Amino acid sequence: MPKVMIIGAGGVSQVVTHKCARVPEVFTDILLASRTIEKCDRIAAQLSRAIQTARVDADNVPELVALVERFKPELVINVALPYQDLHIMDACLETGVDYLDTANYEPPDEARFCYQWQWDYHERFKERGIMALLGSGFDPGVTNVFCAWAKKHHFDEIEEIDIIDCNAGEHGQPFATNFNPEINIREVTAKGRYFDQGRWVETEPLAVAKEFDFPEGIGPRKIYLMYHEELESIVKHIPEVKKARFWMTFSDNYLNHLEVLGNVGMTRIDPVMFNGQPIIPLKFLKALLPDPMTLGPLTHGRTCIGCLIKGKKNGQDKTYYIYNICDHQQCFAEVLSQAVSYTTGVPAMIGAMMMLTGIWRGHGVFNMEQFDPDPFMEKLKLHGLPWTEVILS
Ligand code: NDP
Repeated sequence: MPKVMIIGAGGVSQVVTHKCARVPEVFTDILLASRTIEKCDRIAAQLSRAIQTARVDADNVPELVALVERFKPELVINVALPYQDLHIMDACLETGVDYLDTANYEPPDEARFCYQWQWDYHERFKERGIMALLGSGFDPGVTNVFCAWAKKHHFDEIEEIDIIDCNAGEHGQPFATNFNPEINIREVTAKGRYFDQGRWVETEPLAVAKEFDFPEGIGPRKIYLMYHEELESIVKHIPEVKKARFWMTFSDNYLNHLEVLGNVGMTRIDPVMFNGQPIIPLKFLKALLPDPMTLGPLTHGRTCIGCLIKGKKNGQDKTYYIYNICDHQQCFAEVLSQAVSYTTGVPAMIGAMMMLTGIWRGHGVFNMEQFDPDPFMEKLKLHGLPWTEVILS
């Protein structure tokens, strides 16, 4: 009977754990392990079903291996931070256990993310007869599956993909991020990057912006071009794509705060000596900012994340838009979390379900768009993330 070990006990983990706990026929036993066991126990206490908890430092491979050998899971779901990805993959290799995450590896001392570090594990996972599923959140995750679905059902050839992420929610805080502040700020302050005619084009951070009219009453919002990891895997696995971009909305208030914090050096990730101690300004800033988990009861409004896709069907030009809208307060009512954690945690649970039930199987390291999108798309509707598709022309 499938046992699953969830690592990390933050905002996303809370949703994954709630959602896995509600599907006992797939997730028979659950172990929630993280650096701070009290956070695991707090999540466990919210559930109507008993799960196990443990303390683990996911940067310590022998400690991870010992815990995996004790609990003997079929799958490890990594919803700690991107810094832990390779250590957890090493522990999975050593113990012969499948792996899933929601964000690609990032070295702590360099604000750069890229799939190559994890793709380099492909042969070793294949030889060991185990599977890794990378990026099973919303973006990356559902957005990759949306592209695979569009390719399978709507296009003979996809030419352009714009992934557009809008958080139209309000939390009433002067400045807060909806997922881990350190990872969020590293991502947003990085240079923009998009794929065009077979090459990558770099832009200054948030230098390219335009307006997009979001559906279902959300209305027009300014969207900013950023680099996002799913672009790298989508252009690899759907090789006919000529142009792929990622866009995100930000409020003027968020951007003003970020600019000031950047100007005074608070977003730096290199060590600075303070009172004889080295400190990393961004890690210190994280300690001051609201924990995204506390935003659940405060956040109102909706998110809208989707893909605007252009290409050819039967020789004709076609433009197609597929999206999900998620309401922050409805998420809180269901799992005590806001929609950003919810839209990440639900696909992580569904990805795990695809692996444990054998619907998505393979030996090696895989991205979401490499599998049949249909069963995943069906489960999204059943587990709280319904989607809508519109043929625009
Ligand atoms: P949080 O900061 O809320 O949670 C991270 C958790 O990981 C914390 O419980 C933290 O422990 C734990 N952790 C950190 N380091 C270690 C370690 N060495 N050993 C064990 N546990 C550790 O982050 P979120 O829940 O907001 O995000 C989780 C992941 O989801 C991130 O990788 C993020 O990038 C990703 N994400 C993906 C999205 C997608 O759509 N694909 C969208 C949003 C997020 P402690 O509490 O002790 O600090």
